[in-house]
Amino acid sequence: MDLDGTLAEWHDLHENAFAIGAPVPAMVSRVKAWLAAGEDVRVFTSRVDGGDTAAADPAVSNSVLLLYQQTDKIVRMIQDWTEEHVGARLPVTCRKDYAMKELWDDRCVQVVPNTGEAVADRLAAVTVERDELLGRLDRMRSASRVYEGSGAEADRIMNAAVRQPPPTGAGNDITSLVIKDFQTRADFGEKKYGTWLKAHNGRDALMDAYQEALDLCVYLRQAIEERDNPKCTT
Ligand SMILES: [Mg+2]
Repeated sequence: MDLDGTLAEWHDLHENAFAIGAPVPAMVSRVKAWLAAGEDVRVFTSRVDGGDTAAADPAVSNSVLLLYQQTDKIVRMIQDWTEEHVGARLPVTCRKDYAMKELWDDRCVQVVPNTGEAVADRLAAVTVERDELLGRLDRMRSASRVYEGSGAEADRIMNAAVRQPPPTGAGNDITSLVIKDFQTRADFGEKKYGTWLKAHNGRDALMDAYQEALDLCVYLRQAIEERDNPKCTT
């Protein structure tokens, strides 16, 4: 695991090769847990690169470079620090090796193996996809609520019809009235067209019936509207 910015705070370039920032508590706890689990935890830092990094930086003076070149001394300084804060003198290295399972570092960008794609980008894409799916789910839920709502309304109307009392009374016989109406209509048709309605008369009976049904719906709705919301006469 990296030192500066990961296990220890790092706010500015250390002029002093022998200074380490304050421990980062969350990372310290993590390292302690790894150690308790028997993991091989190492400090992975360019501080022990023999001064190569410092030598490449023109801002580093010769006297400071000499400090960075004292690798053994820097390793001891880091181990003193880890002993104090994580309770163990951890191995210190600037070399990655094949047995490394994980590298914890504040500058690492993890890639999805063999793709060149950053894990963070993959995660962002998955998050967008997740939000899109959640949005779609929300819309489906709203639609289903609307559907349930209209279902309840239909139930209310059906229940109202079922709750109606059985028919009674001594009014006019409706079937007789309808038969009379049929006769009147037939006579009207014969007068108007010169014949009663007969099969194979050249008309599309289904379409005629459908159009009459549309008119019927409109008139039924008009009647219900006029019954439920009578015209204000005051
Ligand atoms: Mg770092």
